[in-house]
Amino acid sequence: MIVMKFGGTSVESATAIERVAGIVRDRLPEKPIVVVSAMGKTTNKLLAIASAAINGERQRAIDLAIDLQDFHFRESLRITCEQERQELERFLNVTFQELKELIRGLVVLGELTPRSIDAISSYGERLSSVIVAHAFRYFGIPTEHIDSRKVIVTDSRHTQAAPILEETYSRLAGQVRPVAEQNVVVMGGFIGATEAGATSTLGRGGSDFTASIVGAGIGASEIQIWTDVDGMLTGDPRILPGAGHRVRLISFAEAAELAYFGAKILHPATVVPAMERNIPVHILNSRRPQVEGTRVVAEAVHCANAVKSIACKGNITVVNIHSTRMLMAHGFLHRIFEVFDRFETPVDMVTTSEVSVSLTVDQPGRLEDIVEELSAFAEVEVDPNQAIVCLVGDNIRYTPHVAGRVFNALGGINVRMISQGASLLNLSVVVSQDDLVKSVEALHAEFFRELDPAVFD
Ligand code: ADP
Ligand code: ASP
Ligand code: MG
Repeated sequence: MIVMKFGGTSVESATAIERVAGIVRDRLPEKPIVVVSAMGKTTNKLLAIASAAINGERQRAIDLAIDLQDFHFRESLRITCEQERQELERFLNVTFQELKELIRGLVVLGELTPRSIDAISSYGERLSSVIVAHAFRYFGIPTEHIDSRKVIVTDSRHTQAAPILEETYSRLAGQVRPVAEQNVVVMGGFIGATEAGATSTLGRGGSDFTASIVGAGIGASEIQIWTDVDGMLTGDPRILPGAGHRVRLISFAEAAELAYFGAKILHPATVVPAMERNIPVHILNSRRPQVEGTRVVAEAVHCANAVKSIACKGNITVVNIHSTRMLMAHGFLHRIFEVFDRFETPVDMVTTSEVSVSLTVDQPGRLEDIVEELSAFAEVEVDPNQAIVCLVGDNIRYTPHVAGRVFNALGGINVRMISQGASLLNLSVVVSQDDLVKSVEALHAEFFRELDPAVFD
């Protein structure tokens, strides 16, 4: 049994879904379980609807919902059998009716809670999974839809919910696996439900994570992540259009590090369930299924290049905290992190000197409160508009002069922070947002001038 996850662009239209059906049909002997994202940019549109609703723009919210409704009707009815057409229409009508009721509720409340964000953003996958299941049957694939909210059980940290693995795995083994023995199962990614039955989501980009959880729960032999690029590339194609090379093989640890530092191609939590059960992950392009893609495997392979790929996270904020005493007293770091913890703000990168600590955050929502609290015992300075550039490669730990090459390549660009990760497989620098593209270009040119053909395409 394998898990095949198709992202938003892979199911963005009737044509795209037809392509997906072809890819799945070719793999029927492997008994696929298919996990799909919302169609195209549906999740973003749902969130735009939610903010229009709470800002009192009722009509705009309803109009946007109607656009979404027209889009889902138009694309799905092209790829549905005559005898299932009515049933699908009924489903779409009921679902959009519910969505509009939810919008009216939000207009009245004028407020969005994490739980209502989940309620609204779940509609994308609730729709796409049913549509794709109908389409597969239209294309002759025996298919059954399973509602992920009945299977993926999560805690109640809405918008960032964590799966309760024991219960989820038991449902996957008991309820999904037997169905998948007979038919192709289609499930929505990203969504789940709390034990009390409230709809929850695993965080943006979470369908990759769903695929990995499903793979681990059913004991899949492989988890395939089908997306819109040829695999993990040596640099983010939005920053380096056309310049990146495909990485053939990468380890779980390297992929996790890249995902964490901004490589959107994988949700950062994806590799965890796969790694725990040692299930290989394979990243593939649904528009070019013949390309080999990237294999994510347990152990890093030997590679002549020090670096496998460069990830980056733009628009982050650096917080500099100076001890108001001459030297750092014991307990200083503890007090700092306790404040970030209390305001539920993750810290990505940290460097310290004798009297000061610099750290980065990419969710500055609670920063004002944090600064106020920190100011009771330290001087605090906040620098927005910064970017982290992160070089990842298992070989960094064995290769001398990597830092030297980084600074050389960056030439005159001012480096605000540097950290060679405790994992030893990453080296990160913080530069100003304005220098981000220049920095990535320079580092990419330096570290990928020659390519080890065993690892890169
Ligand atoms: P999906 O909808 O299939 O989940 P995503 O948009 O979430 O797709 O992820 C794929 C995108 O990740 C690519 O289109 C690309 O822009 C971006 N990306 C960022 N870093 C990398 C990288 N190192 N290699 C490949 N793609 C990357
Ligand atoms: N549809 C969700 C999102 O846009 C989940 C996903 O695509 O992985 O974030
Ligand atoms: Mg994604």
